[in-house]
Amino acid sequence: MNKHPKKEQTFVAIKPDGIERGLVGEIISRFERVGLKLVAMKMIVVDEHQVEKHYTLDPEWRRITGEKTIAGYLSKGLKPPLEDPLAITAIILENLKKYMTSGPVLAMVWEGAHAVAIVRKLVGGTEPLVSDVGSIRGDFVLDSYTMSDADGRSVRNLVHASGSVAEAEKEINLWFKAEEIINYRLVAEEILYDVNLDGILE
Ligand code: GDP
Ligand code: MG
Repeated sequence: MNKHPKKEQTFVAIKPDGIERGLVGEIISRFERVGLKLVAMKMIVVDEHQVEKHYTLDPEWRRITGEKTIAGYLSKGLKPPLEDPLAITAIILENLKKYMTSGPVLAMVWEGAHAVAIVRKLVGGTEPLVSDVGSIRGDFVLDSYTMSDADGRSVRNLVHASGSVAEAEKEINLWFKAEEIINYRLVAEEILYDVNLDGILE
């Protein structure tokens, strides 16, 4: 049987720059106030191996990311530094390893209706320069691919969030043991999800 939509889970990680900049509370409060439930959380320092496993859970990620990056250069009228998508992704992955291992990361699982899509909306697009105003990346980061490429590093975009339900399942599995995910009730869920809002007035 399929899970009820209100049980959808997504993986979120506050990257080292988010922790260094003291934005943990600000970022978490955005997921809390929309009505999502925090069901797992841990601060860890990851190694390069974990970073590579995380980004390559989707066997197509290397190709897709390389092609997307090339398309990004072409859309700006720029010549891509390399023509092979996989060679471009190899550089991106090396930079991601340095970025993600540079300090602690706060790994979390958030649960609730449409958790994956709601969190992606709140986080905003990957490149902070064009992330929507009001999104976490749009509100708190001024980075861009132009700047990060010029300095040979990853774009600093504060947060990772799963891109799809399938990706979320794989990522949660990679970052957490089943017993680290807590099953509990939030009183507010009755207001968010109950079919009849009765029993409030005495
Ligand atoms: P996310 O799910 O929004 O984090 O984005 P992706 O899964 O598509 O990409 C993962 C990471 O790869 C990003 O956080 C960037 O560090 C890097 N990346 C993705 N696309 C590009 C690009 O066009 N140029 C560069 N330089 N890096 C990119
Ligand atoms: Mg992604």
